[in-house]
Amino acid sequence: MSLVNLLDFDLEGLTAFCEGLGEKRFRAVQLFRWIHQKGARDFGQMSDLAKSLREKLATRAEVRPLSVLSEHVSSDGTVKWLFDVGGGNAVESVFIPEEDRGTLCVSSQAGCAVGCRFCSTGHQGFSRNLSTGEILAQLWHAEHQLRARLKLGVGERAIDNVVMMGMGEPLQNYAALVPALRTMLDDHGYGLSRRRVTVSTSGVVPMIERLREDCPVALAVSLHAPNDPLRDELVPLNRKYPIAELLDACHAYLSAAPRDFITFEYCMLDGVNDTDDHARQLIELVRRSPRADGSRGISCKFNLIPFNPFPASGLKRSPRERVQAFARVLADAGIVTTVRKTRGDDIDAACGQLAGEVQDRTRAAERMTRAPIRIHAAAPTARS
Ligand code: SF4
Repeated sequence: MSLVNLLDFDLEGLTAFCEGLGEKRFRAVQLFRWIHQKGARDFGQMSDLAKSLREKLATRAEVRPLSVLSEHVSSDGTVKWLFDVGGGNAVESVFIPEEDRGTLCVSSQAGCAVGCRFCSTGHQGFSRNLSTGEILAQLWHAEHQLRARLKLGVGERAIDNVVMMGMGEPLQNYAALVPALRTMLDDHGYGLSRRRVTVSTSGVVPMIERLREDCPVALAVSLHAPNDPLRDELVPLNRKYPIAELLDACHAYLSAAPRDFITFEYCMLDGVNDTDDHARQLIELVRRSPRADGSRGISCKFNLIPFNPFPASGLKRSPRERVQAFARVLADAGIVTTVRKTRGDDIDAACGQLAGEVQDRTRAAERMTRAPIRIHAAAPTARS
């Protein structure tokens, strides 16, 4: 009989599993705390569980970590793990230490089917969705390994910010994502604040609406272009869910949490999407309204990302002065704008453009090589 992986459950799922073993909910809470708060795998170590339960668990369940293929530590403290997820596939997680917080960038799929032009993961194609257990195993491993390494005391944690910005489009793996998010937020799990867990999406509109209902964590949207013709080229999902629909979904998302904001991610590509005119189009986009509910604009900030070049992309990083000028146009219009610092350059740890190895089942690389990249230097505003 194959063993059930307890990392696959949020607390509700673990409660149902324990009830199936004839155990009460408070036992599930104890077990959940052992696994996620203390990093325990060995049921024998879980001293406040009845011996009979520990014995049952040992024959039916396990806490299954991911095998680490490699770990690289940058001179700036950034850590990148490459995890084996079987079948020749690997995914990456990156820990980014900052003065006031520790952020973990987590993968949701082996590869990605969206195929953004500037993303090395997109160029590799898609292999499969990760399970809830495989998503959580990245956080479980990183948190407990870093706690030991940094000699943190009881109650201290290494990671207080999680961004679902690694390999994959998280909202195309929704069923596995939501229990993982709930475990991150659960006070008996990792106890992270709702605003310190971010789902980054390329714009899967129907799932943005569901996320608002099911687990409204912080939302980041990979925008990368201010108009549909250009975004169709850079983020192919735009052909299905164009910018106007995406912005409506963002607007509706914020209606559940009016004090929140959307972070728009914008990868700066030399001569492609980085002119002052593009910046002005962005301002027009996020200011446009009034909307159906009578409110105006979208509460947002922009995060400008220096492109991490890779040979197959045919694209170049915008010069630093261009990025600064672009940021100034946005900031002068009163939009909070940050430029992402490049971290872990010496270990190739660009978050969101992670380069693992997947068995491509979509032949993405072949398709992208065949399709010409048409670049719109300054195209008209969005369809709407
Ligand atoms: S940027 Fe995100 S959605 Fe686009 S191909 Fe890369 S991983 Fe997929």
